[in-house]
Amino acid sequence: MSKVYFASARIKKWKYADSMPGKLENLLREINLLRYFEKDEWVAVKTHLGSEGAHRIVRPVFLRKVIDALKGAGAKPFITDTVRIKGLDYLEVANHNGINHLSVGSPVVLADGLYGNDNIMVKAGEILGEIAVSSLIHDVPAMVVCSHVKGHIQAGYGGAIKNVAMGGVSSSHRHCGWKCGRGAMHTIGEGKLMWDAEKCELCLQCVEICPLEAIKFEGEIFGYSENGCWRCGRCTRVCPGVALTLPGDDERFMKALAEAAKAVLGTFRPNKIIYINFLTEIQPECDCMPSADVPVIQDQGILISDDIVAVEQATIDILLKAKPLPQSAMDGLKIEDAADILFHLSQKPYKLQIEEAERLGLGSKDYELIEI
Ligand code: SF4
Ligand code: SF4
Repeated sequence: MSKVYFASARIKKWKYADSMPGKLENLLREINLLRYFEKDEWVAVKTHLGSEGAHRIVRPVFLRKVIDALKGAGAKPFITDTVRIKGLDYLEVANHNGINHLSVGSPVVLADGLYGNDNIMVKAGEILGEIAVSSLIHDVPAMVVCSHVKGHIQAGYGGAIKNVAMGGVSSSHRHCGWKCGRGAMHTIGEGKLMWDAEKCELCLQCVEICPLEAIKFEGEIFGYSENGCWRCGRCTRVCPGVALTLPGDDERFMKALAEAAKAVLGTFRPNKIIYINFLTEIQPECDCMPSADVPVIQDQGILISDDIVAVEQATIDILLKAKPLPQSAMDGLKIEDAADILFHLSQKPYKLQIEEAERLGLGSKDYELIEI
């Protein structure tokens, strides 16, 4: 049975040891980093750097604690993520969100280069075939996966599996393009965007959010560059009238996430990765959206484990006991206090991510929760 260490967000004493940063230090001591990382070993601290308006990410103060603990264990850590928007702009977003060398105490580097196409094709599975894993994550010997837990309009739930799967894979490959990258998870077939003129409100949010300027309206007529599009799906997610859609299938998507996670994790030797899930500022949508809504669930705490399935299952079990927050996206939803909040938000079968990850041998849903 896998061990999952947990520190609650509630404080009982007004002292540093009872603070969230203080508890994270304790968790990192408890799991004993020396069991995973060697002296002078390069360790990627994989997180999501957010977007210009999405400030609810893993806060720099927590990343600093992770970096300091790794340095204390003799390792050489750095912060990384794959390119979500143009690479230079993404580094600037990280800086805006307070993640830079000065604040976190280590370099902040892009895992798949400034153009997001520095990657290596890795065998994935029945759904994806092969997938473009960022070369840095492919090559680095060890990793700490720091995931901000939240809802997600397509995945239903975003935690460690999604962070590794979407975040370890590039948007595009230099030869086979989006079909070898994240787009292979987001859509199927040719993955062409479909536009419904009847439903379009001409709000132009799709134009604003596209990281590649692939969408252009000629008057009231939608047009986009099919070849230039990464199939990231952001335009579909901001579209208020569901006028824009990408062909897809929920079950396939959840299973593809697990498959991509397996491809990424398979590039590491055993016992070289730990997972930290931050159940903080749990908002309804992805950290790559242009804004972050108020949390729908109160801060719960931090979980740490060396088993990705166990840490995800423990996260879900805690969220299933949480109550919806008032004055949030939960307003107007008629659910009981203890109901499945994330499912009610998205109506997506998100637990499939975890079930499939277990089926693929990435870990176990059976865990022992150790609260410190
Ligand atoms: S899916 Fe939409 S937002 Fe993403 S690259 Fe294509 S057009 Fe742009
Ligand atoms: S976001 Fe949707 S509704 Fe708004 S302009 Fe684009 S297609 Fe039309």
